[in-house]
Amino acid sequence: MLRSVAELTRHLGHLIYPPACLICHGCGDGTTPFRHGLCIECHSAVTVDPHSACPRCAKTVGPYTNTANGCVECRGESFAFEQTIRLGLYDGKLRNAVLRMKSLDGEGLAELLGRAFAETRAAAIAAEKIDVVVPIPLHWWRKWTRGYNQSAAVAREIASELRVPFESRLLRRVRFTPQQAQPTRAARQQNVKGAFQVRRSANLTGRTVLLVDDVMTTGSTASEAARTLLAAGAERVVVAVLARR
Ligand SMILES: [Zn+2]
Ligand SMILES: [Zn+2]
Repeated sequence: MLRSVAELTRHLGHLIYPPACLICHGCGDGTTPFRHGLCIECHSAVTVDPHSACPRCAKTVGPYTNTANGCVECRGESFAFEQTIRLGLYDGKLRNAVLRMKSLDGEGLAELLGRAFAETRAAAIAAEKIDVVVPIPLHWWRKWTRGYNQSAAVAREIASELRVPFESRLLRRVRFTPQQAQPTRAARQQNVKGAFQVRRSANLTGRTVLLVDDVMTTGSTASEAARTLLAAGAERVVVAVLARR
């Protein structure tokens, strides 16, 4: 079944042109297998994570690191989310793909990365018993200038694969937060404080939320969004990110 205009366009395109990989633009020789619009090399480059990651903040850690209480990066942080599931490190082809998603024609790429995420991280997500999928919202100004919210496109596909409700308007961004790097934890928390609001009619009581973002840098934004969801009654918040810096 066709789920979006972008998908319909791709299907029509395939009737005229051979499929081209959305990351490397290679179209192979007609015998090269494709998966979700990506050639097999690009699909495995963005979905196979060769590193170990901290289960709490998704930061890359050494293979023998004890992460029972988080890693050196997050042990002192009071994150409001419980865990973070990532597709990979913000590097190489995944970094390029995430950067390309931020252009107006990046929506198809965002959708297929969402599908690849749901498919390849299915066991980790299933273990969390997710009730609802919520994207980190963009401020209206940023959404207007970009044309769409890339995290919402990723989240919509994850929800569709998981067959759980997708709530794109449950969380609102009510304050524009500058994106410059904040040097200290206190400054980072202050920068995002009060940035989000939960819609008044939302019923989150006792629910486990999968909060979706494209990139995680320090975790401060996701933590503030998670804090807002918990304050509105959510039981737990688990974060899904495509790429962790
Ligand atoms: Zn490719
Ligand atoms: Zn950590």
